[in-house]
Amino acid sequence: MKDRVLRVQDLAVHYKVREGGLLKPRVQELKAVDGVSFDLGAGETLGIVGESGCGKSTLARALLALLKPSRGRVLWLGEDLAKLSDEDLRKKRQDLQIVFQDPLAALDPRMTVRDIIAEPLWTFFPKIARVQVDERVRGVMKMVGLLPNQVNRYPHEFSGGQCQRIGIARALVLNPKLVICDEPVSALDVSIQAQIINLLKSLQKKLNLSLVFIAHDLSVVRHISDRVMVMYLGRAMEISSRNNLYKKPLHPYTSALIKAVPVPDPRIARAVTDTGLTGDMPSPLNPPAGCVFHSRCPYSVKRCQLEVPALRRLENEDWVACHRAEELDLTIKPR
Ligand code: SF4
Repeated sequence: MKDRVLRVQDLAVHYKVREGGLLKPRVQELKAVDGVSFDLGAGETLGIVGESGCGKSTLARALLALLKPSRGRVLWLGEDLAKLSDEDLRKKRQDLQIVFQDPLAALDPRMTVRDIIAEPLWTFFPKIARVQVDERVRGVMKMVGLLPNQVNRYPHEFSGGQCQRIGIARALVLNPKLVICDEPVSALDVSIQAQIINLLKSLQKKLNLSLVFIAHDLSVVRHISDRVMVMYLGRAMEISSRNNLYKKPLHPYTSALIKAVPVPDPRIARAVTDTGLTGDMPSPLNPPAGCVFHSRCPYSVKRCQLEVPALRRLENEDWVACHRAEELDLTIKPR
């Protein structure tokens, strides 16, 4: 990969969970993220998709070194974040920013928009002149489509979409190189979702940002992603280029997620009732042996229950974790 900025190698985040109450307590291991690997280039957007509980948000926090990995490495510009001193990690955080899911909850209601956006500047440059802060805050407000004369207002005076723009402005104020967007549009109306996705896409181009865009719906990441990683029970099932993934997915789970995307035409929606998925996602405390997806996979064979499929690279540079990827034809028919 050209101009790689982020390299994630066999990353795992496991938690100890106490179960069974006071009488028969037992400690179990919850594998929230279990052996995820991928690279990200400068100016590239990787979409990460999966059902609730698949480990997307835990992965986001581990990428930012907000969580300590149980195994594996996160290399930012070649440096292992877990091995940096506190001071060096603090400096690196200028490059690495996050946009949160619930825009209103992420903003302090007692702070004005100026103070919310300026806070990272004060943190990293405590001696910065007030005039410089004001100039930078007004600049990023304009960049995200907010009026600079709203700088003295409070979060409750803005709509959900505007609050998310404030969150994006705050993430951009330090000129980061990587922004992790953790379900940034899932709390917004559909029309506003499109505006925020278009905004992020144009900012990414303009600033040559690398983006990790997390969502639970494949339709949301389609417009913005160069490549998409599909996660299930803490593991990467497939990492494919956007064009390949939506036309000819490699993994049965990806195919099911594409079929589950809502269609605006009710005649087609009625026809597409079978996504190929059976049952619910198992508990991450007790994942199936072998392929973690085998209990819901319509193509499961004996081998799938015994052997964990490795995430492997195919000739076309896409990656898949399925024993039967080459023999299955999961081409999506145009609707
Ligand atoms: Fe299905 Fe087997 Fe492939 Fe897993 S390895 S996705 S169970 S066919």
